[in-house]
Order: sequence, then structure tokens, then C-alpha cells
Amino acid sequence: MAKRDYYEVLGVSKNAGKDELKKAYRKTAMKYHPDRNPDDKEAEDKFKEAAEAYEVLNDDNKRARYDRFGHAGVSGPGGGGGGFTVEDIFSQFSDIFNQTGGGSPFDAFFGGGSRGGRRRASGERGSNLRIKVKLTLEDINEGVTKKIKVKKHNTCDTCNGSGAKDENSLQTCKSCGGGGYVRQIANTPFGQMQSTTTCPSCSGSGQMITANCKSCKGEGRTYGEETINIQIPGGVEEGLQDYPIRGKGNAGKKGGAAGDLYIHIEELPHEHFHRNGADLLYKLHVNFADATLGTSVTVPTITGKVKFEVPAGTQSGKIVRLKGKGLPDSSGYGKGDQIVKINIWTPKKLSNEERKILEKLREASNFKPTPGKEEKSFFSKVKDRFS
Ligand SMILES: [Zn+2]
Ligand SMILES: [Zn+2]
Repeated sequence: MAKRDYYEVLGVSKNAGKDELKKAYRKTAMKYHPDRNPDDKEAEDKFKEAAEAYEVLNDDNKRARYDRFGHAGVSGPGGGGGGFTVEDIFSQFSDIFNQTGGGSPFDAFFGGGSRGGRRRASGERGSNLRIKVKLTLEDINEGVTKKIKVKKHNTCDTCNGSGAKDENSLQTCKSCGGGGYVRQIANTPFGQMQSTTTCPSCSGSGQMITANCKSCKGEGRTYGEETINIQIPGGVEEGLQDYPIRGKGNAGKKGGAAGDLYIHIEELPHEHFHRNGADLLYKLHVNFADATLGTSVTVPTITGKVKFEVPAGTQSGKIVRLKGKGLPDSSGYGKGDQIVKINIWTPKKLSNEERKILEKLREASNFKPTPGKEEKSFFSKVKDRFS
């Protein structure tokens, strides 16, 4: 794939200043953030591309080389960009990710705004996990705390994740002196360039193991069940996004950082309501006599029953909004409505007496449909929807 222009990647002009660059990078990074786009390879590539562009343009020397020579000016070891892993990005640009700008209100619950920070590079990072959590609309209305059992790799209790049998079987790595990184010097047309990479001898842990822990056979983690308390805020929605819980995925190998646990929300069907975003749809059935004469009924809401007036002369299909009786909005602000649709119930069986009354009524002058105004407004609404 041809590399895109770095300025284009961040959507800034060639004269963009540092503040503008930072803003543009933060915006792009938040958009393609792996938390918002789990398992999306394209978003991950864009996320890396933006980091690469920012890394070069934010460095005066690299930017000057890039402006002069293009991508060739900044390729090669130490030249800039390329080869980033997502973890590298979080640690290198932690100042960007530790600011909670642009986060959704859910980030505060799930810790999404605080990812990053410098993690000690050691062992292999644990993989992410995804689990389904079934919620009722009542749970979603109020938010809920759930205890869930997750089968996964957990840090080994015996060795605390080091993988070593005991203190004496853990030695400082000779190749990197315990730092976990080694420097590499490369000669390029632009001069000597220095780069730092993970130490190949110890995979970045800075330590060498001479005898393995027996419980985990040196892996630093064991497989088992863990009970996790999760707090789910009100307003979550199935299919909107999976909610990450930091560090609750599989434990890493040999003390590596744990992966994340993604909560996939599944909504259980409700006996009364159908959900539409933050609104709750409810069908109220009244018989023809009640619709004609008017009546007072009770209707369920997500928080309990309320009195509901059906005015005399109510037409079938009439819609009434109960303001604020819906679910919390998924943005975290405000509440939806309960939308009551009134349906006229038509009896299918009739006694002889009922039949006689109705046959009489059917000839009555007021029983002749005169749709007029209401029908007109219905058609204009339909037209609006299709125009
Ligand atoms: Zn162990
Ligand atoms: Zn080493």
C-alpha cells in the first residue's frame, strides 16, 4: 500500500503549528482508537498511520527531512514511524491518551480514558477476551452491577507472574543489563541513526529465568475461573459497541500486561416494551367503546404503573409521548420518552345481543367515517417521511 501524505493523514496544512498538530492527532487517534473499534483491522491501521504521521511531524528534524525528501527522508531505523504496535503508541503518546478529551461518558466507568501511561515492557501481553452479558431493560434503565465468572489465564499466585521457581532462579539479563531494551545503530544516507528495540534475549523482561515455577511451568500464568464485578452504566445498547474493562482479559506471559475484557451487551426481550434507542414503544389496546367514550387506564412504564387518560373520540393509531419515561440516552445525557400507541381492539366473537346492538349502531349517522383533517395530516406525515 502506498504511504499517504502525513499532512493529509492528520488533515492539517503544511504550516500547521504544534498545537494544531496535537489537536488533529488526538482527534484522529480517538476516532480510530482500538477501544472504540475492537477487532477492526482497518481502524487499527489508521490508528497506527496517524501515530506515525504525528511522530514525524511533531519532531522538527524529522519534519524538515520529510518536507524535503518525503517518506524516503524518514524511513529506515530511527527515521520515524512505521513498525508501531498499538501498545507502543499508548506508551509513546501517553500524554495524548491520558487527557480525557473526546471520551464518551462511559469511559469513566470502564477506564477507557486512562489507557496508556508507560507500561514496563516485559513478557508477552495477554490477549483480549469478549463476553456476553444479558441485561433486562430495567437493568439498562438503572445501570447495574454484575458478578460474572470468566474462564481465563490468571497471573500465577506461586511466582507472581515471573515464571521463576524462586528469587535465585531469576537473574538480570546480560544482553540488556535488565533494561529490557537494546540500542541499534544504523548507517543511512542521512547519517547515523540510533533506535531502541526490545531486547531479543529476554523479550524485554530484563530478566532471565534459570529454573521454572512448578505451578505454571514458567509461563507466569495459570488457567482458571475468576469472578469479576462489573459496573454497567444506564443506557447501554446492544450492538452499539463493546465496553472494555482494562486488564481483565488474559494475563500476559511472564508478567506481561494483561489483555482487556470486552463486555458485549445483549438485551433480553421485554414483556411490554420494544426499545428504539432511548425511547420505549408501548402498544395500548382499548376497545371501541372506551375509545369512543373515553376512559382512564393504567399503563406500565419502566419504573412502574402510571395513570393514562384515553380521551373521548380517540382514533386508532394515536400516539402519545410520556416525556422522560424512556431509558437514559446512550450519550449519558438526558432520557428518552415512552411512546404509547393506542390500538382499537376489535372483538372477534359476539353474542347475539352484542351483535344486535352493533347492527343498530352501524346504521347510526355518527358511525359513518368522516376522516377529514386527521387523515390529511397522516398523509402529509407519510409524505414527509418519503420526501
Ligand atoms: Zn508460576
Ligand atoms: Zn534482555
